[in-house]
Amino acid sequence: MSNASNKAIFLDRDGVLNVDLGYTYKPTDLRLVPGMIEGLKELANAGFKLVMITNQSGVARGMFTLENVHEFNDALLRAIQTHIPGFAFDAIMICPHHPKGTIAEFTAECSCRKPGTKLLTDAAIALNIDLSKSWLVGDKDSDVDCALNASMRAIQVTMGGKQYTQSKKAFALVPTLKEAAEIILKN
Ligand SMILES: [Mg+2]
Ligand SMILES: [Zn+2]
Repeated sequence: MSNASNKAIFLDRDGVLNVDLGYTYKPTDLRLVPGMIEGLKELANAGFKLVMITNQSGVARGMFTLENVHEFNDALLRAIQTHIPGFAFDAIMICPHHPKGTIAEFTAECSCRKPGTKLLTDAAIALNIDLSKSWLVGDKDSDVDCALNASMRAIQVTMGGKQYTQSKKAFALVPTLKEAAEIILKN
């Protein structure tokens, strides 16, 4: 068990867990991506730590507050728990920054906004995660870049609501977390 527990799956939120509507923050806009629940179950059963890792520059842009982000995350967690009783993420990592924000407190060239790696490395230290044995699942090519910047493998998903540039550097390109989990468990 100790071996397995050093491995983590870093999960982008919008477009991987919930459907990305573009700066999604209202709990009433929460839609689960098909296949996501099955993927989470598979990965949790395989002993991976599960860490949500999300850029929320809408906070810096003044479109919503960090409190709104937490409320949405709570709604997402409750929705997952209706399918997987007792489910919890091992950590939820949020970057609220943007270099061109309008809210001074969050306007910054930070190192946590993906493809920066600070959220990954902070979680790795806190949870004793071996990044070289871990994966990131995201829907943007910048998610893939983030993983590579931390010497991790990345899988890009395509059915999360928005179509982003397909990365040539992803380990695999698949529809949803369900197929991503199948690939991870084989590799
Ligand atoms: Mg995303
Ligand atoms: Zn940041």
